[in-house]
Amino acid sequence: MAASAPSVYIANARLVRLGAGAEPRPGGVLVEGDSITAVALTDREQRETRSRAREVFDAAGMILMPGLVNAHYHSYGTLLKGTQNRLPLEPWALYTVAYGRALGAEAIRLAVMLGAAEMIRNGITACLDHFPHTRWAEAALSAHEASGMRVAFAPFIHDVFDHEFLQIALPPEIRAMLDTAPRSSAGSAERMYRDLESRWRGHPRVTILLGPNAFQRCSPALLAVWRRLAHDLGLHAHTHLVETRVQAVRGRAAWPGGTVEEMARAGLLSERLSVAHGVWLTPDEGEILARHGVTVVHNPASNLMLGSGRLALSTMLEHAVPLALGTDSSNSGGRHDLFEVMRLALMLPRPDTTDPRAWPEARQILEMATTGGARAIGHAQKLGRIEPGQRADLVLLDPRGAALAGAPVTVAHLVQHAGASAVAAVMIDGTWALRDGRILIFDEAAVLDQVAAISAEVRAAAGPELVLAETAAPYFQACG
Ligand SMILES: [Zn+2]
Repeated sequence: MAASAPSVYIANARLVRLGAGAEPRPGGVLVEGDSITAVALTDREQRETRSRAREVFDAAGMILMPGLVNAHYHSYGTLLKGTQNRLPLEPWALYTVAYGRALGAEAIRLAVMLGAAEMIRNGITACLDHFPHTRWAEAALSAHEASGMRVAFAPFIHDVFDHEFLQIALPPEIRAMLDTAPRSSAGSAERMYRDLESRWRGHPRVTILLGPNAFQRCSPALLAVWRRLAHDLGLHAHTHLVETRVQAVRGRAAWPGGTVEEMARAGLLSERLSVAHGVWLTPDEGEILARHGVTVVHNPASNLMLGSGRLALSTMLEHAVPLALGTDSSNSGGRHDLFEVMRLALMLPRPDTTDPRAWPEARQILEMATTGGARAIGHAQKLGRIEPGQRADLVLLDPRGAALAGAPVTVAHLVQHAGASAVAAVMIDGTWALRDGRILIFDEAAVLDQVAAISAEVRAAAGPELVLAETAAPYFQACG
């Protein structure tokens, strides 16, 4: 760390250090440049470390925790709040695709900024943006850069439509219209990833990931691009996996042993892969994913909203599958609030057994939202913990508000009671993103002023595509 790097000592906080296995304990943290350079615990360490800092932030009475990582998120959905969300995934997807085709560069920019505002206020410092509208990739990336957030950007590729893989019987005129949607070609997919990777390589907060929409939505030619770039460029990859029952059933019909075994045979499972949902994973498939070090990103709110089901979280924990948490799209999962998602993850496995030993512990859930997410976005060694050498993505919670007051703050207490109202300050990559109730990196008010108009424009422009969605939806509904 250069001696001239800006430095701040966050003094008198209580530190949530899961790696140390302890409950929040008094201490201070020195941040120099983009990193945590010292964690001071004893009185003497605190005095000495404080004397090294140019600036002191007095966090007396507050909890300092690692920033939360939203490991499955689609930024464009923030403009689609209140659109169709009373359908299962397959017909629902027709609507979100219809709206998505009406987006332009400015809508994408505002969607990214709006999502960043919501996430920062919820203590989320990093997200994995699984991004379908690849022609607007640069607009999205510029907005992510301006947002101040840490971002793993995973542009989609796909060339097999759901109606093909799921063998949905469609009237020819509907099929013909659905078939006009763009498909990625292997050549363009490879060029896109290589270009984006070379342009954003070395950026302090933005990384490029491979983002195949789903294994079953890619032809062998696209799978070859995925495998080659994961190998040649060492890129991390992120994809959807067995989100709905019909996907799992069709996967077993298409490949011996099902989708996960086929992915293993195709050489796509590795520590650098994270998969969203996994609602219909069998215990054996969980074991295969664990063996390859694949991270499963649990999205309980989205899975409930679309009626997809529940990840067998206790089984995944039992098999030591690496796990993370995500909020998915605004128009499927609702709020970009990982405190809410943590609570759901904590509670949802409980009705499966009355044996409380099988229930996830609060500590495990908070690990999913921090170190687990860091691993999913490719920052396993440098993010998610309050330790020297880690990137300074930090959240200060004030436990004196109504939601948290009334008991000493433990990890269980945090997971059960914390929320956006307790988020007092947020630091990302060593820079304050939120302080005193204000986002400091970008003009949040200007974003909020503009989103209503652009969202109305998108909804109006989606009109003709929505007619197609409505016509086709009953056929997709029937496939479930
Ligand atoms: Zn998704």
